[in-house]
Amino acid sequence: MAILPGQGPCLACMYRDMLDQDTYVLRANRCLRVVPGIIAAVEVAETVKVLLGIGGPLLGRLFSYNVCSMQFCTVHVSRDSSCPVCGT
Ligand SMILES: [Zn+2]
Repeated sequence: MAILPGQGPCLACMYRDMLDQDTYVLRANRCLRVVPGIIAAVEVAETVKVLLGIGGPLLGRLFSYNVCSMQFCTVHVSRDSSCPVCGT
């Protein structure tokens, strides 16, 4: 998901119940160690798209990858107006 300040939801909008309320740090879950590398490549592509103004960024859409089934999908995410991080 592309996170552009003031233009869409942030991680806290999606994972509010997983946030440490004192520090706003997302508690890490265990994952297969190769997955972050795959997701990082996708995020680099998203960053280049935003910087070059090409294509449509994943604004308000969470990119999901299931390594076990090798399936990719996107899920719509709405901005939470009461979000403690990006809400107004
Ligand atoms: Zn937010």
